[in-house]
Amino acid sequence: MSINITVWGENVHEQKIPAVREIYPDGMHETIAAGLRQDPAFTVRTATLQQPDHGLTQEILESTDVLTWWGHCAHGEVSDAIVDRVQERVLQGMGLIVLHSGHYSKIFKRLMGTSCSLTWREAGEKERLWVCNPGHPIAQGLGAYFELPNTEMYGEPFGIPTPDEQIFISWFEGGEVFRSGATWKRGNGKIFYFRPGHETYPIYHNDTVKLVLKNAARWAAPEGSRWIDSCPNVPVGKAPEKIVAKGGVLHQPGEAGFK
Ligand code: ZN
Repeated sequence: MSINITVWGENVHEQKIPAVREIYPDGMHETIAAGLRQDPAFTVRTATLQQPDHGLTQEILESTDVLTWWGHCAHGEVSDAIVDRVQERVLQGMGLIVLHSGHYSKIFKRLMGTSCSLTWREAGEKERLWVCNPGHPIAQGLGAYFELPNTEMYGEPFGIPTPDEQIFISWFEGGEVFRSGATWKRGNGKIFYFRPGHETYPIYHNDTVKLVLKNAARWAAPEGSRWIDSCPNVPVGKAPEKIVAKGGVLHQPGEAGFK
């Protein structure tokens, strides 16, 4: 069965900074999407900040199994209503892959509930990503580690809640380390944060990075049915076992309850 992926891109630095446009002439989102399209099981479309509803209409999100998120300089321009909409879909079961500077996006901070802060340095350093969970679906096809020749450094402390699963830990030429691949479950949705992706380096053209993203999209795809937030009342007569109501009640029969 096909997995529907929506690749979301902020698409600002590609338009404004020649060094970025040179690496990603069609926008980073198109390069990320092209890497994912190597897998025939995926149906991939893109969406950007500049589109109506940032390209994330209810209809698009309803038919999205996995959303990838890359943003950097325009996190504040993302509408809170769209963040609410994406969060609702994650809680229902949509997978979310947050990339690089997306650590500071509204949606990631909302879902983590923490600062998501980190330390950073732009010096074109080598990054070595160690696989710390070789049995994990996201790490399949990788060796003990892989390296990226030129990256921006991200260092600890990374202000995230303790991950459910740690997939990668990075070491940088300058000496810092960073939890560069980690997963969480929020409601029925799986979330993967993946660190590489600074826009002045050709990170999303790298074959190993493409492999990780393909693995991650398969892993994050929903399993089973959606969890719908409706908070339904179960009347006394519909309890699985026969009971008699005792004590006082606040609600009238059939009342919807507070929202
Ligand atoms: Zn960066």
